[in-house]
Amino acid sequence: MTMRVAKETVVSIEYTLKDDQGNIIDASGDRGPMEYLHGAQNIIPGLEQGVEGLEVGATKSVSVPPQLGYGEYSDKLLQRVPLNAFGANTPQLGMRFHAETNLGMRVLTIKQIEGEEVTLDGNHELAGKTLHFDIKVVAVRAAELTELAHGHPHQSGGCCGGGGCGSGESSSEGGCCSTGEASEGGCCSSEEGASAGGCCSTEQPVAQKQGGCGSGGCGCSA
Ligand SMILES: [Zn+2]
Repeated sequence: MTMRVAKETVVSIEYTLKDDQGNIIDASGDRGPMEYLHGAQNIIPGLEQGVEGLEVGATKSVSVPPQLGYGEYSDKLLQRVPLNAFGANTPQLGMRFHAETNLGMRVLTIKQIEGEEVTLDGNHELAGKTLHFDIKVVAVRAAELTELAHGHPHQSGGCCGGGGCGSGESSSEGGCCSTGEASEGGCCSSEEGASAGGCCSTEQPVAQKQGGCGSGGCGCSA
């Protein structure tokens, strides 16, 4: 019998993501299918709902409004910091990094640099946008118990590029991306926390919620 996408299944999908104008924003393409644990909020809610119930081989177009995607754009997520907060790093327009904010750990984008002042934007780059996905389900399988416990798939991918999550177990410490991320500042965290440390890969599949790597997605301590 054919397996359908449902809670507690690990799903692989190929997708192309377009904006309202039909411009391609992202595609699984060369990166290969995106694998996620269904029902565990690995991906944006609107997409997860759209995939629900599909079987292997199925294709579908799914349009996701901002409130089921990356939220509405909010000016409240803009903040200004002095240039010297970056220390030895040279901020550049569009640069992204993890940082602790009063809304918790977020990915911030450098939106403007003006004199000695840098404007950071905590909105997701796709905030406020309706997202149009063309998806194809390439695989569905039952999730392993450890995957359910961790809330993410382990084989062939995840944020840590294969390898799964090793020992995990009792740990606040273990886990694939480990190194004490959660409190410390994302997967690529660099020097001392607080200021604008860390880089964040811009290569993360956009359909994946932010923080796939680093802020809990792969923490295995979750
Ligand atoms: Zn894990």
